[in-house]
Amino acid sequence: MKIAFSYGKVLFVLVLLYSKPLAAQSYRSVVDSLQQQLRQASNDSLKVDLLNQISYSFRRSRSVDSIQSYAHWALLLAQKTNYLKGQAVALKNIGIYHYKITSPTDTIRYYYEQSRLFAERANDYYTQAACLNNLGLIESFSNETSSSILYFLKGVKVYDEHIDDAQILKGLLLGNLGSAYKNIDDQVRAYRYLHNAIEFARQHHFKPILSQYLDEYAGTLIQLGFYERADSLVEEALRIQQEIGDQLSVEPTMVEKINILVWKKEYKKAQKLALQAINDSSASGIQNYRVLFLAQLIHIALEQNQLKKAMQYAQELKATPEIVRPFRKIALDAEAKAYSANGEYEKAWDLIRQRDAVIDSMQFIEGNIEIDVLEAEYQERENLAEIDQLNQINAIEKDRFNTLMIAAIILSILLIIIFFQLRNRARNEKLIKQKNEEQKKYIDYILELENFAYIASHDLKTPLRNIVSFTQVLKRSIKPRLKPEEFKYLNFIEKGTKEISLLLEDLLAFAQNNKRQLKVEKIQLPHFVEQVISSIDVAIKEKNANINFILADEFIHADTVKLNQLLQNLLLNALKFQPPHQIPSVDIFQTTNQREWQFEIKDNGIGIEPEYQEKIFKIFKRLHPRETYEGTGIGLATCKKIVEQHGGRIWLNSTPGLGSSFFFTIPRDLALTTQ
Ligand code: ADP
Repeated sequence: MKIAFSYGKVLFVLVLLYSKPLAAQSYRSVVDSLQQQLRQASNDSLKVDLLNQISYSFRRSRSVDSIQSYAHWALLLAQKTNYLKGQAVALKNIGIYHYKITSPTDTIRYYYEQSRLFAERANDYYTQAACLNNLGLIESFSNETSSSILYFLKGVKVYDEHIDDAQILKGLLLGNLGSAYKNIDDQVRAYRYLHNAIEFARQHHFKPILSQYLDEYAGTLIQLGFYERADSLVEEALRIQQEIGDQLSVEPTMVEKINILVWKKEYKKAQKLALQAINDSSASGIQNYRVLFLAQLIHIALEQNQLKKAMQYAQELKATPEIVRPFRKIALDAEAKAYSANGEYEKAWDLIRQRDAVIDSMQFIEGNIEIDVLEAEYQERENLAEIDQLNQINAIEKDRFNTLMIAAIILSILLIIIFFQLRNRARNEKLIKQKNEEQKKYIDYILELENFAYIASHDLKTPLRNIVSFTQVLKRSIKPRLKPEEFKYLNFIEKGTKEISLLLEDLLAFAQNNKRQLKVEKIQLPHFVEQVISSIDVAIKEKNANINFILADEFIHADTVKLNQLLQNLLLNALKFQPPHQIPSVDIFQTTNQREWQFEIKDNGIGIEPEYQEKIFKIFKRLHPRETYEGTGIGLATCKKIVEQHGGRIWLNSTPGLGSSFFFTIPRDLALTTQ
């Protein structure tokens, strides 16, 4: 047994739209402000608009005549100035007035149709759509269901095709259309339009639409079997009605609430609610819903096998005054069921025939071509809107995809950069490692070379000394037998071997110095220098030279053997590189600062040209032929090496022809290694 039943509340929407009295103050203040503007208005069109607005503001008041008088005033002025839109709105307002005073339907229809015509000529789409909505309601009131649906469909079409902004009127058109379909039990279409009305209202926060149509939407869901969803929608409807004070929508919502309770088999609760609703409806004076609640009570009683009760409610139903046809249909249906359950089949059959007659009188012609075309067009618009929406989503997705792609590309570039950085670093590390290895090999090679130089010079010394000695022996023993040139040749051999010997000695000293590890000791300065000077005493005496020194009586830290060799080399050079016949004069100075000890060996010798002042520290670098100044070019290279081994620096200042000053330093922190 199908308990839930469907009804539409088209009539009451009309009532709500035009009759719901506003608090007197609220519409009064609107009217006052409009009248104020009207007094100041200089332009006729503006005046017409204001008059129409004032007229429309009275629709919710009890001064119905004001609607008419302001609308007429507007109409006359609009006609005089040929202001089409003004005429359209004025005619619509007059239509409202006639509805309010319950003029014959034809009269109401006439004004709305007239208004619609002017609105068409003025391209005033909003007024067109509003008239179509009102016409639909009037047709519904007259049970002309097909033409009512047609008007609503046309209204939706005008709205969709010409009006861009979302206004409450669109929600009303969709909701009324859904309601109309619901009245003729076309649940699928009813669902579609009510669903769209609700979605539209949710999207734009039109609470009055939600308040009016949520329950009807729930009703279609009940018909389609979605009770749970319907339940939550009914609760939501009641909440919103409470919130915005829409008492008129509460009653129809209660009908759905009771339907849901019946579905849940909560009969006691359903019964209680229905009885209470009947009470409330008698109090409010609106009797129509009483019929529905009584029909529900019959169903509930039958479900519980309370036949007597069901019959009692059926009797009550019969006694209700003339009601709208959709409700009459439901009442007859319920009555028939009660009688049938009571075994009064003839009576029941009669009621069913009456019910069918009501349905027929509701003037819905199946297969109405105009409706079908408009439905198809609506469907198409919906599809297009859906495609549009999908395209938008697509575009957003595409944008998102592009953004992601860009991000991915940037990420890839970063990864590539990081990859190359890492690869470069790995390469650099490899290179550094390679270089270190090469350096190590080079050092090993140098060490090997120095070793070789040392061994060579050391091992060559003895055979060379033999050559020198035997050359001298030979010179002495065979001198008488030799020709003068042959004796000269022997002298060359002797000189050459001496030079080689000298070279070997210096080379050996150089190599020895390199081989020997630095051994830092505490050295008492003046005493040490005195010893160095006395070790070269022969050379000093030979040149009749003067060596002076000014030294602080302090200790320094250095390798004794190396420092000795360093000072010897510098002093011997100072004595050696002198102009012929000049008495060499050499001064040794020493200064101390926080970081190092600095020494200066100053001579009055031949001096060195600036361009050679760096080069002379290179091994084998000499500036003079051996005939002028004998030597090997190893001494200063050894000096440099010794100073560097101590962590110091060596350099010189020289003026060619006047003398040279050789400087070297020894860092003081060397002292730490001995402490
Ligand atoms: P050597 O003294 O065996 O020639 P050194 O390495 O000691 O080798 O010196 C290199 C060169 O520097 C010398 O040949 C000389 O031309 C120049 N030189 C060194 N000391 C002095 C100095 N005190 N005055 C002028 N020239 C010098």
